[in-house]
This record gives sequence, structure tokens and C-alpha cells, in this order.
Amino acid sequence: KKRIFSGAQPSGSVTLGNYLGAIKNWVELQDEYDCIYCIVDLHALTVRQDPKVFRERCYSFLAQYLACGLDPEKSVIYFQSHVSAHAELAWILNCYTYVGELSRMTQFKEKAKKHRDNINAGLFTYPVLMAADILLFKTDLVPVGEDQKQHIELTRDIAVRFNNLYGEVFKIPEAYIPKVGARIMSLQDPTKKMSKSDENENSYILVLDSPDLIMKKFKKAVTDSEAVVRYDEVAKPGISNLMNIYAAMTGRSFEEIEREFDGQGYGAFKKAVAEAVIEGLKPIREKYEELMADKGYLESVIKNGAARAENIASETLKEVYDRIGLVPLP
Ligand code: ATP
Ligand code: MG
Repeated sequence: KKRIFSGAQPSGSVTLGNYLGAIKNWVELQDEYDCIYCIVDLHALTVRQDPKVFRERCYSFLAQYLACGLDPEKSVIYFQSHVSAHAELAWILNCYTYVGELSRMTQFKEKAKKHRDNINAGLFTYPVLMAADILLFKTDLVPVGEDQKQHIELTRDIAVRFNNLYGEVFKIPEAYIPKVGARIMSLQDPTKKMSKSDENENSYILVLDSPDLIMKKFKKAVTDSEAVVRYDEVAKPGISNLMNIYAAMTGRSFEEIEREFDGQGYGAFKKAVAEAVIEGLKPIREKYEELMADKGYLESVIKNGAARAENIASETLKEVYDRIGLVPLP
């Protein structure tokens, strides 16, 4: 079986972008692949977190993972901070990654612009920790949204570089990006991707948002003044984004959507998009409530997942230390 690894940061709650770009596919891949899904809490520390809020959010994030359909009976589901090999391999890989490479990462450039008062070294080396996450598990495929493509390419470069020096230690992973939904845009600024850490709550839909709130957010979504439902990412980024969301939720093609809303205003279209999203997310919200009421179950998932991930990760780390020439503990 081929191995899949992916993760999301508990830097906010799961958005529709995270769901359509990543988590929905993770769920579908569970039967066919050997899947490992991490909650990358260490990555979330690159922006300032309040300890109490953060801990609660991490539990909630796990419940959201499970509510979306990730199944601990099928996949390894765990917190990054519970497996120390992530941080340890990241240090090693830092020594095989160039500052020039990291300077070219668009995520760093964007986040540095947004958090001018906290451009910390972690934000800069974020892609190295991500490379460690992936390489620790000898991953074949990394299902992610479009925005993470550049980081996967860097991961491959680092892995190849290391293997050229020390022999075939790492598997060279490939990005696995969905055809529809790989890049959901902000509802308030459709030239920017939807992000859970956006300060404007109207810019994103959360999988746990109430039906009323979802309807309200879609009604406020920025569009254009043409009043024709037509796909054109450049001239009509807002409408094109809503079409993407509708397509991903209903399986309909852009042509079908254009026909469906021919001659209708944006009001009717926005309402239909909101309804499709409300309907699609409903089971997730219900499952979430159940899960949050059972802390004992969540804790058993956390413990079990950490042990299984630790087993695999520590093997790879040992191999890396050995190849580099670090002295083994006698
Ligand atoms: P943050 O703003 O804190 O970076 P985020 O919403 O970008 O949060 P991440 O945890 O960084 O979420 O990413 C988790 C997964 O979701 C990744 O695979 C990423 O590619 C995917 N993803 C994030 N945003 C989108 C989006 N707008 N459309 C599609 N996929 C997305
Ligand atoms: Mg992100």
C-alpha cells in the first residue's frame, strides 16, 4: 500500500477551503492507502497563540478532523507535538536547506507581510518542519491544496539532496492536488485564498458555522456588477470562486452551473451555493457535537495515534542519525 501523509494547523477552525482542498480527499483516500493525518500544532506556534485558547482549540480541531470523516480505525491520527522526531528531523534538515530557498517561499513572504511585528525564525523555517513531517513517514503522496505545492517541491529537493549525500534514506514524495476545490478564495477578497487565520470572519466559512451564519456570509460575498453567472477567474474572481465551491459541493461542471443560473441574478445563485454548503456540512456539525461530548474517546484517539506515529517516525530518525555519522548510544 502506498503511504499518504498530510496535516493542518490548529491556527483556527477548519474552513471550507481546508475541507474542499484537503480534508475531503483525505477521507476518500483512507480505504485505498496507508494514511497518516497529523494535527500540526508545532506549525501553529509560528503565530502567537494564547495557551488556554490554543489547548481547547486543539481538542476541538481533533473533533473536527473526526467529524469530517477521518477514521482512527483506518488512519493514524495524532498531534505533531506528541512525536518528538518531527522537531528533531527538522533540525537536521535545517542544515541541508538554504536560506535562499526559504526566502523564495511565497507563504513566508505573505505571512511576513501580515505579521510584521512577529517575523520569527519559525515562520521562516516552517517549510523545513513540513519537510520533516512528510519525510519521516517515507510518504508517497501528500494530499494538499494548491497553496502547498511549493512546499512539497522544496521537500522533494531537500530529500534528493540528502539522499545524494547519504544514500536512499528518504522516499521522494509527490503532491496530490484535487481537480476541483484546490484553491478556495476569500469571500471578501477573492484574489486571496481563504484562510482560517484571517482576521475577517466574513472571509471564510467554517465547517462548524451555523446554517444562518453560512447564508449570511455568502450573501455578503464580494462579486462584481455584471450579474451574469459565468466562469472567468480574472474578470470575475468572486463569482468564479462561488462556482468552484458549488462545483465541489454538488459535483456539477461549470457549464452546467452557467446553464442552471442563466438569466438569474446573483441573489439566487448565492442562495443556492449557501444551501449546497449548509446541506453538505450538516452531518459534520452533528458528528462534532457528539464527539466533543466524549472527551474519553478523544483522549484514546490521541494516545493511540501518537504511539503508532512514534513507532514509524523514530525508525526513520534513527536511520538518518546513523547515516549522518552521529554516534549511536552504546
Ligand atoms: P493558516 O491561515 O493558518 O495558514 P489555512 O487555512 O491556510 O490556515 P493550513 O492548516 O495552513 O490552513 O492548511 C491545511 C490544508 O488546507 C493544506 O493542505 C492547504 O493546502 C489546504 N488549504 C488551505 N487553504 C485552502 C484554500 N483556501 N483552498 C484549498 N485548500 C486550502
Ligand atoms: Mg496555511
